[in-house]
Amino acid sequence: MACRTERAKGTLVRVVRTPAGIITLDPTGRMPGRGAYLCADDACIRLALRRSALERALGAALSPELRSRLEQGVSAVLQGGRDGA
Ligand SMILES: [Zn+2]
Repeated sequence: MACRTERAKGTLVRVVRTPAGIITLDPTGRMPGRGAYLCADDACIRLALRRSALERALGAALSPELRSRLEQGVSAVLQGGRDGA
């Protein structure tokens, strides 16, 4: 996990690199591809952005759309991908 903090599974956000090489949120936890986890926590998400933890874990770049959504914090992240992030 990006912050190396152990947390219960229900409090994690899965981010996945799809087979097409796109990093996206995975609210269902079932998308195929290489996954990385963040705590469902504003501080953890922002720390991961500052450290480029997702890019390093997944080996691909975040889209500007996904980055801006992550920067809005956990409530935006957990809205569920309806806007295509
Ligand atoms: Zn964390």
